[in-house]
Amino acid sequence: MEYSSKLLERAVNEMSQLPGIGKRTALRLVLHMLRQPKEQTLMLSEALQAVRNEVKFCKSCHNISDQDLCEICTTPNRDLGVICVVEDIKDVMAIENTSSFKGLYHVLGGKISPMDGIGPHDLNIESLVKKVKEGTIKELIFALSSTMEGDTTNFYIYKQIKEYEILTSTIARGISVGDELEYADEITLGRSIVNRIPFENSLKH
Ligand SMILES: [Zn+2]
Repeated sequence: MEYSSKLLERAVNEMSQLPGIGKRTALRLVLHMLRQPKEQTLMLSEALQAVRNEVKFCKSCHNISDQDLCEICTTPNRDLGVICVVEDIKDVMAIENTSSFKGLYHVLGGKISPMDGIGPHDLNIESLVKKVKEGTIKELIFALSSTMEGDTTNFYIYKQIKEYEILTSTIARGISVGDELEYADEITLGRSIVNRIPFENSLKH
């Protein structure tokens, strides 16, 4: 694309680094901003800088947080003994939306995927195993997407913790194999947590 302005070109190039945003869309967005009041763009850039510079990850569950411990970990009356293991923060949001789960979460930050060069040590697995060893957890619920990588990750964690006396369960699969958790509708996802099954049962197939 030929640009009449280097500044415009730079803005378009930066914008098009975002996933799902091609050069054309980036150009459309930048031109849109130029038509809006300046303050609008200023607020956007300030919000982006603030989220980048100030956001933290919860020291306990690795969820995104404004404090050292996230709001979920510090809410009274949640069941501290039940931990739902998820791939990422979007899954926490999806499950919270169902209002069907009152335990805590543990965000792994992805799943084991040798093809993509992601091994167990790239994920927040060690801190999960440590929590289990500390002995305060009664149950781990695996709520990873039902893909080969999800299953591999579940099984890896299961092997690390099976010597400890806790329940392990996996969300019931109203969600079909290969579906990403975040796309499941709230009712199905809510039910699949309530009707979770012992993890051992999910291994017999
Ligand atoms: Zn937390």
